[in-house]
Amino acid sequence: MIDIQAVCVYCGSAAHVAERYRATARQLGALLAENGIELVYGGGRNGLMGLVADAALAGGGRVIGIIPDHIMALEVGHRGLSDLVVVDSMHSRKRAMFDRSDAFVVLPGGLGTLDEMIEVITWRQLALHDKPVLLLDDDGYWQPLLALLDHMIDKGFARPQHRTLLRVVDGVEAVLPTLALAPDPILEPQAKWL
Ligand code: AMP
Repeated sequence: MIDIQAVCVYCGSAAHVAERYRATARQLGALLAENGIELVYGGGRNGLMGLVADAALAGGGRVIGIIPDHIMALEVGHRGLSDLVVVDSMHSRKRAMFDRSDAFVVLPGGLGTLDEMIEVITWRQLALHDKPVLLLDDDGYWQPLLALLDHMIDKGFARPQHRTLLRVVDGVEAVLPTLALAPDPILEPQAKWL
């Protein structure tokens, strides 16, 4: 079992989304706090990002936000965090979020969330790390993405083993048990299957 001290959560910054997704974000923040797991996230106060952070803080958890200065300038940064790290670019932010986390959980989100998730799974595909990536498929939100992955495999652009890059769960209660599973094997570096 891997030692999980900090979990990075990727999720949407949009405010007007279904209450169901908002409730799941709160539930995840509370769960991390309750289990003494630090939350690492993008540092915003809007949408699911703000909700997951607020719930973790309310539960007495430690929350680290990592935000680029140009987004901070829009005044969407969360001012009540344990630590808010301001970095100089989106790339530095994603790198810092990766470095500080032992695992990743992806809630519903938009293009930013998609970009963040795809980056960590492509790094796994290249055997650059073995940190688990959990896709929280709340109410089937991510089914079109999973269908796209199947389509890529079907057409030969990805391998069946690439399904193991993501662990899919459908509720917050499955997050900790799934993180506790033995790590999936690291795939061979890409050049070997070209
Ligand atoms: P979204 O899922 O689009 O609501 O964005 C969620 C998070 O991803 C926010 O913290 C955004 O700042 C971030 N984000 C938005 N666009 C990008 C991008 N192109 N690359 C990386 N992160 C992004």
